Amino acid sequence: MQSILIVGAGFAGAVHARQLAEAGYRCQVIDRRSHIAGNAFDEVLPNGIRVHRYGPHLFHTNNKGVVDWLQRFTEFVPYEHRVEALLADGRTLPMPINRRTLEGLFKVDLPTAAEAEQFLHSLAVPMEAPSNAAEYLLSQIGPDLTDLFFRPYTKKMWELDLEELDTSVVKRIPIRFDDEDRYFPNDQYQFMFKGGYTAAFERILDHPLISVDIGREFSKSMLKDYHYCFNSMPIDEYFDFTFGPLPYRSIRFHHRDVPAEEGAGTATTINFTDAGPRTRETDWSRIPDHLVHRTGRKTLTQEEPCDYVDNNMERYYPVKTSDGRYQAVYEKYKALAEKTNECGFIGRCGTYQYLDMHQVINQSLKHVNDWIERQK
Ligand SMILES: Cc1cc2nc3c(=O)[nH]c(=O)nc-3n(C[C@H](O)[C@H](O)[C@H](O)COP(=O)(O)OP(=O)(O)OC[C@H]3O[C@@H](n4cnc5c(N)ncnc54)[C@H](O)[C@@H]3O)c2cc1C
Repeated sequence: MQSILIVGAGFAGAVHARQLAEAGYRCQVIDRRSHIAGNAFDEVLPNGIRVHRYGPHLFHTNNKGVVDWLQRFTEFVPYEHRVEALLADGRTLPMPINRRTLEGLFKVDLPTAAEAEQFLHSLAVPMEAPSNAAEYLLSQIGPDLTDLFFRPYTKKMWELDLEELDTSVVKRIPIRFDDEDRYFPNDQYQFMFKGGYTAAFERILDHPLISVDIGREFSKSMLKDYHYCFNSMPIDEYFDFTFGPLPYRSIRFHHRDVPAEEGAGTATTINFTDAGPRTRETDWSRIPDHLVHRTGRKTLTQEEPCDYVDNNMERYYPVKTSDGRYQAVYEKYKALAEKTNECGFIGRCGTYQYLDMHQVINQSLKHVNDWIERQK
């Protein structure tokens, strides 16, 4: 029986391990952290609140194949995420921008979606082919909304001006002319995992052919003991930063244990529009199945973006600039990986792309199933 090494017990590693084990391969999963589930790891704090250690993870997708695969390992709890933006005067308005945001901000009456659309178009600065995030936003929502909702947030988040960022970073954010206030209005499936993500990972990895070793760092000397290795570690780190480091943004999480009644707005997450260092606050108790035991207390978590080097090398978001300079560095690592063919690089840090959970699961299923087919 062939043995496979899998580096990383996040979604990429866990999906690979499960599919390989079911195809008859013996899998050794290692992770340098002290837990499984990668960035989706969650735990219940002493105040009875379930918290995602690496920031709020909301599951949403249109991919039925991914949902079908997941439901072998977890039940789902319906949940539609909502976000509000906190203004300087203490009011909160729906985010992404919708009809009510426009009415509240500009103090105008826009009774229909058509009027809201017309109003927004009167603010927009028409542009043929926006070449960066600033131009894209100006062409969609004009300068006032760009400067209020996007400029300070982006600076905090990326330490870059909107002009330096690729359009794809802001294109993901929908704009609505009706009262739709769900954060993921275009996704058919939106839910949380009943009992949490970590419990689902335990079930995904529970197979007689899978062994899991946490607190174990990868070293190249391990490769000789395995037929192949699927590796979700940062690709630049694997190659000793030969072409220079690939930058990532990270987040420092500030948790507060507060009385259950505290908190602004009505949404789970409140975005800050000011120029201070923090981007948003999440009230976990507003997510179903996250108030696990009633203690009269709850946790609010604020996020402070920073360079990953200033946060214990915790890599969260690959940096995508409009000139593609870091993508070009990644392409060099990718070419080297293809040439040496020592491992198959997988997941967010192995392929240097921001991927939501459903995208990682989908890519991993395809990648590993193709690999298994090719061995036949
Ligand atoms: C703040 C934040 C919020 C997010 N919110 C959402 C959301 O709301 N919805 C959504 O769908 N997605 C969200 N995501 C994305 C989600 O986290 C990713 O899609 C998913 O975690 C990617 O899985 P992965 O296996 O590629 O990476 P990871 O989960 O990062 O797993 C990789 C694992 O590899 C391990 N590893 C790395 N190097 C080594 C080494 N040398 N030796 C051993 N182990 C190693 C790491 O410790 C890690 O556990 C969010 C991400 C972040 C950062």
